[in-house]
Amino acid sequence: MSGFLKIAIRNLLKGPVTDPYPFGKTFIPNKLRGKLKVDPKACTACGTCEEVCPSGAIHITKNENVYVHTTWYNTCCFCGNCEFFCPTGAIKLTNDFHTANTEEEKYRFTTVALISEIKCESCGEMFVPASEALLKRAYPNVNDTIRELTKLCPKCRRKKAFERLYQ
Ligand code: SF4
Ligand code: SF4
Repeated sequence: MSGFLKIAIRNLLKGPVTDPYPFGKTFIPNKLRGKLKVDPKACTACGTCEEVCPSGAIHITKNENVYVHTTWYNTCCFCGNCEFFCPTGAIKLTNDFHTANTEEEKYRFTTVALISEIKCESCGEMFVPASEALLKRAYPNVNDTIRELTKLCPKCRRKKAFERLYQ
């Protein structure tokens, strides 16, 4: 039997090897740079990702006591800069590559995360507290004393730290 015939018979028996996508599952590499996910509990609305985004795809606005973190996929080029520079690891590129959208959906095709401010336990000022992820990055051992300080606004925190120095 010729080599060609062998291959033809083998292929006939095995069936098609092409990917069934979009009618079935497809292989997705773990490191594929797809749509973004923002963890509002880890995000401190610091604005670093907005600053480093080369496409201007991230916008952080404030609405009352909530920061609105929006990523626009009509401009995002999936470079990963935001993930790389985020100090808290709050923004991550996922391997969700489903980015096809109609022109009509263009301005709704976004990822939105809401980051709420809290009230300072000392003066009542509203502020975004340091997230646990940020604390872990800043301190080798995060204890309850450090966690308690995150309930104070930056001004009261400074005051408390100063008082402790001279106690
Ligand atoms: S992946 Fe790149 S282009 Fe997309 S939002 Fe992040 S920094 Fe901007
Ligand atoms: S996602 Fe990260 S870099 Fe962007 S605002 Fe939140 S904490 Fe800052």
